[in-house]
Amino acid sequence: MKKIYVTQSSMPPYEEYIEMIKPLWESHLLTNMGIYHKQLEEELKKYLEVPEVSLMVNGHMALEMAIQAMNFPKGSEVITTPFTFISTTHAIVRSGLEPVFCDIKMSDCTIDETKIESMISEKTVAIIPVHVYGNICNIEEIEKLAYKYNLKVIYDAAHAFGEKYKGTNVANFGDASIFSFHATKVFQTIEGGAVCSKNRELYDKIYNLKNFGIRSEELVVDIGANAKMNELQAIMGLLNLKYLEKEINKRKKGVERYYHNLESVQGIKLLKVNNQIQSNYVYFPILFCEKDGNEIRNNIYERLREYEIYSRKYFYPITADQACFKNKYKKTDLANARYCANRVLILPMFADIEEDDIDRICQVIKKNMKEL
Ligand SMILES: *Cc1c(COP(=O)(O)O)cnc(C)c1O
Repeated sequence: MKKIYVTQSSMPPYEEYIEMIKPLWESHLLTNMGIYHKQLEEELKKYLEVPEVSLMVNGHMALEMAIQAMNFPKGSEVITTPFTFISTTHAIVRSGLEPVFCDIKMSDCTIDETKIESMISEKTVAIIPVHVYGNICNIEEIEKLAYKYNLKVIYDAAHAFGEKYKGTNVANFGDASIFSFHATKVFQTIEGGAVCSKNRELYDKIYNLKNFGIRSEELVVDIGANAKMNELQAIMGLLNLKYLEKEINKRKKGVERYYHNLESVQGIKLLKVNNQIQSNYVYFPILFCEKDGNEIRNNIYERLREYEIYSRKYFYPITADQACFKNKYKKTDLANARYCANRVLILPMFADIEEDDIDRICQVIKKNMKEL
């Protein structure tokens, strides 16, 4: 039986990659903000319609570098969502800051902006929301709060690469937006990421931070890390960018096939992306919305595995409930986040997924929904 994984990396033709990395064997210049690193930054600035793009070794370091660049006092509070990949919360805590977990909206799984204000204290310095499954947070309300209380906003936009909200590319939102270019994401550079912003000063600061804080040969001005993207990653990115629109269109077809199969199945809620968003079709999440949805979700997950179809409980558990964070921070009401985490399932979604395979996946789900 053919194994179907939850995702599969989009890759450029092998020959094109080999051809493009050849010059590296002449130059021997493999990293340290080389020509391909710079070229990819320029191309991404155009593609994302954003003034500044700083390339990183991965998305997690993009988050850490963006946070570090803002120089928050240790122990400050950051309002964030627990309904995310563990990286978001790790980046906050590893930067010496305290996460204050705010619940999400059931409608789109992003942070509930109406609950943020009551969580703001004298120690609050920033809001770090996440665009979940390609849904965009309530940018307008979050910006109003940030302005009113003088807070920084860093969007974890790892799921939203290339998306536009009311015509504006998401890379422009907040004081910074970060992306992941991990192999499993819509746009990949094997491992990789970026910090995007409109702020040249922030770009300059991050340029130092991602290279040990080195300003010049004999001068180190910041306590930085090593977080810069290398040339082989950048070349993978340059090629993948060329094929990105095609890959996104293929994803769109897959998503529509899923809709066709699952739209009218009782007990399943399709988490569709809001129609003001130009979607990148990053994931295909479904929610088992009946009373015993958790049990049904876990059951379907196991049944699919029997057919070597690998779905994912993403995000489960919420980060606030993970062993490393449990009971460590301010107690807040996270009922919606836990509800969704217990009921959500990500079905296989990638550019080259075949319609027959989608039909097969949906058949397994429908058959078992009936029998449960
Ligand atoms: C993938 C991802 C990250 C981390 O990115 P890496 O490139 O894997 O380090 C962070 N946040 C979210 C929401 C992600 O999906």
